[in-house]
Amino acid sequence: MIWKIFAQPRYRLITLPTPLEKLRNLSKELNIDLYVKRDDVMELALGGNKVRKLEFILGDALTKGCDVLITRGSFYSNHVRLTAAAARKAGLDVFLVLTPPKSHGLQGNVLLDELLGAKILHAEDREEADDLMRKLAEELEKKGRRPYVIPGGGASPVGVLGYAAAALEILQQLYAANVKPKYIIHATGSGATQAGLVLGMKLLGVDDVEVVGISISEKAGEVKERVAKLVNEGARLLKTNVEVAPEDIVVLDSYLLGGYPEVTEDVVEVMKYVARKEGLILDPVYTAKAMYGLIDLVRNNYVKENTAVVFIHTGGTPILFQQNTLIEKYL
Ligand SMILES: *Cc1c(COP(=O)(O)O)cnc(C)c1O
Repeated sequence: MIWKIFAQPRYRLITLPTPLEKLRNLSKELNIDLYVKRDDVMELALGGNKVRKLEFILGDALTKGCDVLITRGSFYSNHVRLTAAAARKAGLDVFLVLTPPKSHGLQGNVLLDELLGAKILHAEDREEADDLMRKLAEELEKKGRRPYVIPGGGASPVGVLGYAAAALEILQQLYAANVKPKYIIHATGSGATQAGLVLGMKLLGVDDVEVVGISISEKAGEVKERVAKLVNEGARLLKTNVEVAPEDIVVLDSYLLGGYPEVTEDVVEVMKYVARKEGLILDPVYTAKAMYGLIDLVRNNYVKENTAVVFIHTGGTPILFQQNTLIEKYL
């Protein structure tokens, strides 16, 4: 049933597949077979996981004749930056509603939002931002424009399809290298990445790969609810009968490490460790926390010796230069 994804409208933003790389030194240190899916390596505006969702979101928007995108996110949001870039590439206008946590100065993602010429509005919290997006869409419609509102994180049923397609891409790369994965581990926030991976595995009939979401901001229960809902909505969109419950979703919330968008000493230690062992750069608010979780899961024997593990590098590179003073403290 996976083929149904490829019948959906899709606006190509990047060259796929992204690289899948073996981390030889870390594999040796951790006694596992560790691979990293390099979704931080993409040609659109420094890349990241949001691009995969946006290919399907733009496909939907363009099919509906929309000419302006509206979305929301925090000052650190990779989703907001990449929505702006995707809009520009497709020749569309773009409005961004930014919410706290705020950042100082024009650095990292907010610098790029400005560079991309997005029209920026502000709201005090997510609810206020959602209201503002609705009102803005109504105003634009009155002026004869065709707005398309994207939920925070690109977490819509259409957005879920991005990582459902990626599930196939990852398995193809692994099987070609004769590797049978046990775990796919990644940072989870809005839940759309995890929902896509879970949906993709279900559609492929693969039930021996565990998708582990490392929460970077919320309690596991809330994230599981959201992920399960997105899996089921994505399945309905494709007219397939996949159905999951929150208990079927694996989300761990023991690696918040100061919460979003804090950077603790432990986070910087992981960034240094991975950079110095592999030359691989992690971002401080998503991928470093997910890698901290992965390493802990190996140490506490949740992930068994010699198993094949895929870590998804979901991006976030600009945040390095937005949280640089916190990183510097622990260098
Ligand atoms: C948004 C984001 C995530 C979380 O992805 P969701 O699909 O929102 O769960 C992980 N890593 C990075 C770098 C992100 O920008």
